[in-house]
Amino acid sequence: MLNVTKSFLPPIEEYMAQIKRSFDNAWLTNRGELVEELEEKLASYLDIPYLTLTANGTLPLQIALKALNLTGEIITTPFSYIATTNVILWQNLSPVFVDIEPKYFTIDPEKIEAAITEKTSAILATHVFGNPCDVKAIEKIAAKYNLKVIYDGAHAFGVKYKGKSLFEWGDVSTCSFHATKLMHTGEGGMFYSPAYELQKKLFFHHNFGHNGQYHFEEAGINAKMSELHAAMGLAVFPYLEQIISHRKAVVENYRNLLQDSSLQFLKIRPGTEWNYHYFPVIFESEKNLLQAVEKLNNHQIFPRRYYYPSLNTLPFVSYQKMEVSEDFAKRILCLPLSAEIRFETIQSIMDIIFA
Ligand SMILES: *Cc1c(COP(=O)(O)O)cnc(C)c1O
Repeated sequence: MLNVTKSFLPPIEEYMAQIKRSFDNAWLTNRGELVEELEEKLASYLDIPYLTLTANGTLPLQIALKALNLTGEIITTPFSYIATTNVILWQNLSPVFVDIEPKYFTIDPEKIEAAITEKTSAILATHVFGNPCDVKAIEKIAAKYNLKVIYDGAHAFGVKYKGKSLFEWGDVSTCSFHATKLMHTGEGGMFYSPAYELQKKLFFHHNFGHNGQYHFEEAGINAKMSELHAAMGLAVFPYLEQIISHRKAVVENYRNLLQDSSLQFLKIRPGTEWNYHYFPVIFESEKNLLQAVEKLNNHQIFPRRYYYPSLNTLPFVSYQKMEVSEDFAKRILCLPLSAEIRFETIQSIMDIIFA
């Protein structure tokens, strides 16, 4: 069986050696030395001054919406994983969808202004497939209308844009270290704000509001990463370069094989150093996509329809038509990509699709 991705598993001895540190310390959570060490390593890898690890990639989005005291309407993308919309609803805020750019699948800045009302307080957009949003255009709009900007960077680990970490844009960026993501801790995530005061506020929010043992700054919640999860992260971390370079070779291979086919593939925004997190392909029609999925499934290959359905069509949101997102959501399929997939497998995936 071959799935859309496969979690990278470090050698078990290396994972156990990290777990042993936690046992030796008799310290399983509450920001022990493993969490702190992983934070330092990741911040240095990402070329950002600090970051805070969390229990998953969804909680930091909720915390950001809460800590920024957002109210009313949040402008957001219909083309993302459902978490992006759910966190808005969970905070009792209203998602207002803005369609995506047909070229890059990220929120279309030219359509944002028309969606702004007196109730709009922020933009929550996704760097989908690790492709940067048009961060400069969004920054301008946010400044003009005094809006906060949160980026769901669940796919954007290690992405650089215009020479610096993509996480440097916006008020807050989050990332996910879920087992299916490029860098992972089993379950995990992070948040980063370039504004240190805001980072501190978010930090209090992720740990019950604790500022010291008996002083509480905020009505915080618990979003801490455990030492046991950080152990996985520390065991995966040394393999990051290898993971990314293999994925890069696989993506290049896919692109070569697809060059003259009827399938289109993701265009990366110019100025980006991409992370090869996903390999989405675009079919001419949903019918063709479904046929390809069926053929692949018959061979025990299970690609995923990232992201389907378009989030504006969810049964619990009020429907706003999003032509581009609805169209692409029906026609995009993510082909298998992982740190260990073999070139022969890619060739056979192509043979099956085009048989
Ligand atoms: C994976 C993902 C999340 C959620 O991350 P978890 O770590 O699973 O909570 C949020 N947004 C997007 C776009 C994702 O792909």
